[in-house]
Amino acid sequence: MVPGWMRNLAQETGLNCSEKRGVIYGEYNGCRVTVHMNQQQRRVFVQFWTKESGQYPTGEKLADFLAAYPQQNTQVQSAQTQGNAAILVLKLSSAKKTGAAVKAAVTDTADFLRRNGYVSCCEQCGTEEGLSTYVVNGGVTVRCSACYQQLQEGLHAAKQEIKARRGNMFTGVIGSFVGALIGVIVWVIIYQMGYVAGLAGLVLAVCALKGYELLGGKLNAGGLAISCVIAVVMAFVAHNVGFGLIIYQEIGKEIGATVFESIRLIPDFLSLSGEISGAYVQDLVIGYLLMIVAAVPTIIGMYRSKNLLMTMEQLPDVA
Ligand SMILES: [Zn+2]
Repeated sequence: MVPGWMRNLAQETGLNCSEKRGVIYGEYNGCRVTVHMNQQQRRVFVQFWTKESGQYPTGEKLADFLAAYPQQNTQVQSAQTQGNAAILVLKLSSAKKTGAAVKAAVTDTADFLRRNGYVSCCEQCGTEEGLSTYVVNGGVTVRCSACYQQLQEGLHAAKQEIKARRGNMFTGVIGSFVGALIGVIVWVIIYQMGYVAGLAGLVLAVCALKGYELLGGKLNAGGLAISCVIAVVMAFVAHNVGFGLIIYQEIGKEIGATVFESIRLIPDFLSLSGEISGAYVQDLVIGYLLMIVAAVPTIIGMYRSKNLLMTMEQLPDVA
């Protein structure tokens, strides 16, 4: 899904719009350009894929134009060249303001490129032929077909290498357990401060995964599953240690029970009063919910990047 201002921009400039990938792309005024946004960072990226042609030796430099451009278009936070790309980063604000600023960035830069003899080219090798727009892991690039093939082959080889790497499940489990223990400590400290530990749940899950990878050699699907189980079990342990510590501080000390005995007394306390068992269950459920919300996207991201499960797609040139 793309916002209305992007759709309008595509219409007004005659560029293509990939609804699925959230990218506007194609040739504007003869210049290869892409526009995509990062919702979390609240930024819009306008990128031209271009180089000097050498036909206009007295032409102004693109880098100078970009350096001065934010004064002219105040929504532009930064603008610079990076290899064969010109990258303009804009603030995401109201649809109207953003739409106008992005359109200006596209038209002004394209004008400059045309006037000064810049030509569209592959980001990697600078070839002017056989260009297409590609989405690679959420990022956008313009490449020639040979360079894209190279990128694919490189990724394929790297994946094979990961597959061939031997993992050790036994040491992985130990690593995961040690990692989760760090999370337990964080959980208990936060619980002591009077909060249910959602952030600690994230720390716990991530440390369990990191621990597995560190000692197990690689994080495959089996390791991911084992680490998640360990994280869930250890969150339960953490909750009980945290709860037991509170029993110890409130009552245990007075009746001469140790911390460990206080933890063992939890079931007795829970059967004693509905209020206590309610608080116990509520904090546990909230802890798990926060853990899931915080940890799942992170875990999926970690797994995908460790195993190079990237999205690579060529956007069709329809216009
Ligand atoms: Zn190339």
